Amino acid sequence: MAKKSSKRSAKGALQLLRMRTTILIMLILVLGFGAVSVRLGYLQLVEGTYLQEKAVEQQLVDTTVNSKRGTIYDAKGKVLAQSASVWKVILAPAYMKTDEQRIYISQKLSKILDLEYDDVYKKCKKKTYYVVLKRKIESDEREKILALCEDINDKFDGLSNVITLFDDYRRYYPYNDLASSVIGFTGSDDQGLEGVEFQYNKYLMGTPGRIITARNANQTDMPFQYEQNVAAKDGNNITLTIDETVQSIAEKYMKKGLTDNEVVNRGVCIIMNVNTGAIIAMVTVDGYDLNNPYDLSEADLKAIGALPEKKRAEAESQALGAMWRNKAVADTYYPGSVFKMCTASMALNEGVVNANSSFYCAGSVSIYDQTIHCHYHAGHGSQNLFQAICNSCNPAFIDIGARLGAKNFYKYYQAFGFSNPTGIDLPGESDDLFFNEDGSMTQTDLAVASFGQNFSITPIQMVTACAAVANGGKVLQPYVVQKITDVDGNVVKNTETTVKRQVISSSVSKQMCNFLEENTTKGGVNNGYISGYRVGGKTGTSEKIGQSQSGYKDYIASFCGFAPADKPEVACLVFYDTPRGASYYGSQVSAPVFVNIMSEVLPYLEIQAEYDNGEKQYVDTITGSYTGLSVSKAEAAAKKDGFTTTVKGNGKKVVAQMPSTATKIPVGGNVVLYTDNESTKQKVEVPDMVGNSVSTVNSIAASAGLNISFSGVTASASAVSTSQSISPGEMVNEGTVITVEFKGSTVVHD
Ligand SMILES: [Zn+2]
Repeated sequence: MAKKSSKRSAKGALQLLRMRTTILIMLILVLGFGAVSVRLGYLQLVEGTYLQEKAVEQQLVDTTVNSKRGTIYDAKGKVLAQSASVWKVILAPAYMKTDEQRIYISQKLSKILDLEYDDVYKKCKKKTYYVVLKRKIESDEREKILALCEDINDKFDGLSNVITLFDDYRRYYPYNDLASSVIGFTGSDDQGLEGVEFQYNKYLMGTPGRIITARNANQTDMPFQYEQNVAAKDGNNITLTIDETVQSIAEKYMKKGLTDNEVVNRGVCIIMNVNTGAIIAMVTVDGYDLNNPYDLSEADLKAIGALPEKKRAEAESQALGAMWRNKAVADTYYPGSVFKMCTASMALNEGVVNANSSFYCAGSVSIYDQTIHCHYHAGHGSQNLFQAICNSCNPAFIDIGARLGAKNFYKYYQAFGFSNPTGIDLPGESDDLFFNEDGSMTQTDLAVASFGQNFSITPIQMVTACAAVANGGKVLQPYVVQKITDVDGNVVKNTETTVKRQVISSSVSKQMCNFLEENTTKGGVNNGYISGYRVGGKTGTSEKIGQSQSGYKDYIASFCGFAPADKPEVACLVFYDTPRGASYYGSQVSAPVFVNIMSEVLPYLEIQAEYDNGEKQYVDTITGSYTGLSVSKAEAAAKKDGFTTTVKGNGKKVVAQMPSTATKIPVGGNVVLYTDNESTKQKVEVPDMVGNSVSTVNSIAASAGLNISFSGVTASASAVSTSQSISPGEMVNEGTVITVEFKGSTVVHD
């Protein structure tokens, strides 16, 4: 890639040089040489017609003037990429007549521009009116150059045009590495090289200005009446669907997961609006600094440094390619058990299974001469569809695939969008075809494909399919650019939601949402559960067959889910390539990261938490002092602190509260405000809360008017309460805090 890029910039520099030469010579001729101007006037008047004809014959030369590249904004209008003014320093050494002038100017220029004196002096000796001294200087250097020009003017005659500053632009990325794989960067000639910068280059670059002149037989530029000046038009601005806040949240937790799980080959997270196809966040970790896109990580540099010298250049270009690669669209992987959400949807939609269908797992299945094992070698026994999903049982899914048949499987595989690129508006989308039209899929192919193995898809395909499962069955066109506007704010292009097709019915979608929600709460999923939110999802762990590096079995650990399960708004895929930490299971590597990301993203997106059903109880907060206040003031203060209130008694002021001041209870907990002594004597009976899930305990406590302090393994969806601090049957004040201990039960490793 380094090779390619330097080729690109060399070409660009040449073009620029040619263009600048023309402009400068014109300027010199028009402004600098009075004698020539007179001559030009003569030419126009006297020999005009002749020259005109001649010029048309000899072709017009068309040169361009740089335009200012458009700005890239996030969905909320934050600047993600911007072009700022810089300058190019051009020297016209042919004006210098004495060595005294050359030495003086070389000394000054080399100092200001931090260049080697000898190099500058060499350039000063050239008999030309156009030498590029330095590109993209900032305003402080520009000020010094302007001062030098005045100084030269005072000191010498005839050197007023020896130095010229040309407008130029430098691309800045205020968030450095944020969304680097999506935004991309530009080359030295301002051309987009990666990401949106590349994909939307023609919109961003604007229309270069034009200077048309004519060329004589000697190919020397001769500006006269044919000169035609068209001002450059700034590029269009682009507003992405990416939300900087959501992107930052996703990147923060993805980076943590990368470190925690000792992931070797980066990770991907995609968050998509399931109703529009808009991509709210797209992460490849680790990313790279867009302001310094050629800077490799220390680890990469160390690895390259350890190689024999002649292998380093190639290794460096490979490392750069890997660093810039948008894994979310460019990588393919075996989706593994995440894909079971699609297989189950296909079979339900085709009517070959229903919620009550029965599947049997003996721990393995034989197909021809091959034995395929369930991850649970002892066998899951008899299961219905929901149980098969929760167990992530391979033999059950082989059965489901067989009932569907190869022809139907392939029909839905195509309809879900796995056989073609999604067409997302980003470069580098992978186009791998694994199955041909029906008939060429063997029974073994079908069996293995049913549980997500032996075919490769891209992360963007998977999250798009997951969105279809969640949104009522619509396969949408994913996109990252919301709109393009011109310099005056007129909308040039606005992306509308495109429904490609209906892949499953809305009722099947609804059924799948229920199954997948249950899967995260009661099923085998560890950590797929988010406090306060109804979430649906599925884990996946797939072996990277044929791609393993020596000594390791390498895996992809993923989790794909959506929320809220009853009215899906966002889908999220978390994917780690080659975790080598304590675990490589999707449930243990990716699901916790999914939970962390969504726990912050859902409230930010103003998706209301449902505390009655959910798990807001993980977040404790401290009660304030509400006693002594009027009822309305106490209620307002407690509400402001994040609590609900229950008022007891008929007084006007609060005389007591439960829990008391400075007690830690979860946000959303209930504070009882007593307004008279009589009311404080009212008691409630403590219910039995042992043996229940977190959400059940929460609702039991809420209906009894009690607060719970959760302890132990509450983050696990399979958590079950094992003890409570106040025994069942005891009478306590409403609002009393009871500590309940939880333990996680066994987790399915799929
Ligand atoms: Zn099984």
